[in-house]
Amino acid sequence: MEEIFVTRPSMPDFEEYNEFLKDIWQRRWLTNMGKYHNIFQSELLKFFCAENVELFVNGHMAIELSLQAFEFSPGTEIITTPFTFASTTHAIVRNNLTPVFCDINPEDFTIDVAKIENLITEKTGAIMPVHVYGNICNVEEITRIAKKYNLKVIYDAAHAFGEKYKGENISRFGDVSCFSFHSTKVFHSIEGGAACFADKKFGKKLYHLKNFGISGPETVDAVGANAKMNEFCAAMGVCNLKHFDENISARKKVFDRYIENLGDIAGLKLNFVQKDVTPNYAYFPVIFDEKFFGAARDKVFSELAKSGIHARKYFYPLTNAFECYAGKFNPEETPTALKIAGQVLTLPFYPDLPLETVDNICKIIRDVNKL
Ligand SMILES: *Cc1c(COP(=O)(O)O)cnc(C)c1O
Repeated sequence: MEEIFVTRPSMPDFEEYNEFLKDIWQRRWLTNMGKYHNIFQSELLKFFCAENVELFVNGHMAIELSLQAFEFSPGTEIITTPFTFASTTHAIVRNNLTPVFCDINPEDFTIDVAKIENLITEKTGAIMPVHVYGNICNVEEITRIAKKYNLKVIYDAAHAFGEKYKGENISRFGDVSCFSFHSTKVFHSIEGGAACFADKKFGKKLYHLKNFGISGPETVDAVGANAKMNEFCAAMGVCNLKHFDENISARKKVFDRYIENLGDIAGLKLNFVQKDVTPNYAYFPVIFDEKFFGAARDKVFSELAKSGIHARKYFYPLTNAFECYAGKFNPEETPTALKIAGQVLTLPFYPDLPLETVDNICKIIRDVNKL
């Protein structure tokens, strides 16, 4: 039985990557802001239409060090959502800051902007929303709230690579937008990440923080980490960036096939492309409403698994329900997120997923409630 996973990394042509490897072998500059790091950075600058881009070893460190660079005092409250990957919440806690969980909206699963203002206190320092599944947050309302209360905005844009809102690249929103180039993401550099931001001085801090806080040969003026992107990863990023548009077209075909197959089933909510958004078709989450569909999410999950199809419960559990935070947060305070986390299943989705496999997956789903 062929196993199908929720995602599969896109690879460039081996020979194409090999050309870069040969050059890296000869140059013997493997990391620490080498040639390919700098090429990748300048190509991303163009791609993102950003004012500044800083590269990182992964998306998590882009987020964690961005938070550190703002120099919030310990215990500062960061308004965020629990319907996300562990990284978002951990980045806040690892900086000795306090996550304050706002609920999500049931339409696109991003932060419910109507509930943000009620959570703002004297201790609030920033809003950290997530463009979950590539669904873009209500950036206009978030900008308005942040201006009114003088808060920073840090977007977890790990799912939003290449997307535009009203024609403007998503990297340009907030004080900083952080992307992940992990192998499982829409675009990857094996492991990698980037932060896009407008303020040049902020960029200087980020640059130092990713290299131990070293700011000169004899000067270490910040408690930094090691979060530099190496040359092998940067070269993979340069290769993959060339094929990004092809990948998106292939993803669109898979997306359309799922919609064709599942669009008319009662009790399923699919993730449609949002108004004014140029999508990247990053994920294919489906919400199963047991009452109307006739089977629960977990039933669908295990029926698919029997045929070697490994869908994922993204995002379940909520981050405010993690064992490591037991007793600290209450998932009941974000009821919509709690409900969606119990109903969502993210189906296999990648550019070269055969359309017949999509049909197969959908057939299993169609038949689950007849079992
Ligand atoms: C993948 C991901 C991250 C972390 O990125 P890494 O590159 O894996 O460190 C952060 N937030 C979200 C929502 C993600 O999906």
